[in-house]
Amino acid sequence: MKENVYQSVLEVVQGDITQQDTEAIGNAANSRLAGGGGVDGAIHRAGGPAIMAELKAKYKGCPTGSAVITGGGNLKAKYVLHAVGPIYSGSQKDADLLSSAYRTCLELCTQHNISSIAFPSISTGVYGYPVEEASRIALKTVIDYLKDHPEIKLVRFVLFDSKTFKAYEEALKKLAKTL
Ligand code: ADP
Repeated sequence: MKENVYQSVLEVVQGDITQQDTEAIGNAANSRLAGGGGVDGAIHRAGGPAIMAELKAKYKGCPTGSAVITGGGNLKAKYVLHAVGPIYSGSQKDADLLSSAYRTCLELCTQHNISSIAFPSISTGVYGYPVEEASRIALKTVIDYLKDHPEIKLVRFVLFDSKTFKAYEEALKKLAKTL
C-alpha cells in the first residue's frame, strides 16, 4: 500500500528489512546497542561485523526514545539508524518514547541528507507494544514529520509477518483519510 503524503511517499509492505534498497534502514535496537535477536539480529547478520564495530567505537549506548546512525556494512542500504523503542509498560510515556524513537531517525535522515528510509515495527516484538497502537503512533509520527520535511521523499514500513502488516495497513488507511 502506498500513499502520497504532502510531497513524499509513505509505503507499507510485508517483507524483510535487510533486503531494502532505501538509503537507510531503521533497526529496533536495545539501549546498550549490544545486539540482540529479532530484527536487530537479522540486520547484524546481513550487514556483517562492521556495523557492531562502528557502534562500539562511536557510542556508549543510546537512551530509550532516541537513535544513533552507522554505516550499512554489507547491506544495500548505506546507513542503519539504530532506534531504541520503549519496553511496553502500559504507561502514558510509552507513546512519547516510541514516537521520539521514530522522530530521531527522521531527524538523522535530514541531517545526513538521506531521502529514503525503511522502518521495521519498533517495539512490537520482544518489547511487547500492542501493534494496533504502535502502528498508529509510528505512522502519525512520520506523517507529522513529512509535513515540514519534503527532503525525505520515501518512508517505507517493512513488516515481517502478516498480522503486523495488516495492522499497519489499517492504520494507514485511517490516517490517510485525515490528510
Ligand atoms: P523490539 O525488541 O523493539 O520489540 P523485535 O526485533 O523483537 O524488536 O521486533 C520488532 C519487529 O521486527 C517485529 O514485528 C518482528 O517480527 C520484526 N522483524 C523481525 N525480523 C525482521 C526482518 N528481517 N525484517 C523486518 N522486520 C523484522
